[in-house]
Amino acid sequence: MDSHRSIHCKTPIPHPQITAMFHIIRTIDFCYGHRLFNYEGKCRHLHGHNGRVEITLASEVTDRRGMVLDFTDIKRMAGQWIEDNLDHRMILYQLDPAVPVLQQLGEPLYLLDVNPTAENLAKLIFEKSQSFGFPVLEVKMWETPRCCAVYRSGSA
Ligand SMILES: [Zn+2]
Repeated sequence: MDSHRSIHCKTPIPHPQITAMFHIIRTIDFCYGHRLFNYEGKCRHLHGHNGRVEITLASEVTDRRGMVLDFTDIKRMAGQWIEDNLDHRMILYQLDPAVPVLQQLGEPLYLLDVNPTAENLAKLIFEKSQSFGFPVLEVKMWETPRCCAVYRSGSA
C-alpha cells in the first residue's frame, strides 16, 4: 500500500535548503616538534614537522569592502598567535615525562592537556581563531603534505 501511495503522491519531497556561502582560506606554515604519549608508532619519539594550517572562514555576506575578513587580519592575529606560541616549539602532552627535562634545558614548550596530534592541534587553532571573533568554518592541520586533520564547525 505504501508503495502505491508514494508513486501517486504529488507533494514535493522536502529537502534541506542549500545556502550559498563565501569561504576564505588563509594558509599559515610553521615548524614544530612533538611526540605522542601512549603511542606505539614512530611518533612516540621526539621529532619535528613542517606543519601547514589552513583556516577557513565562512559568511553568507561580505562587508562593505566585499570581504569576509581581510586576509591580513587573519595573518596578524591567528598567524601571530601561532608564531608566538607554536612555531619552533615542542608541543607536548603536559604529563609527558620529557616536559621537566626539556624545561630544565630551557627549551620552549607548548603544553596541552591532550595528546599533541594533528587532530588536537586543528581543534586548538580552531578555538583560538574563534576567540579572535573569526567566523571559523574549519581548520585543517597538515602534519605532512599527505596527512591532514580537520576540525570543523558542526553548524555548517
Ligand atoms: Zn609527528
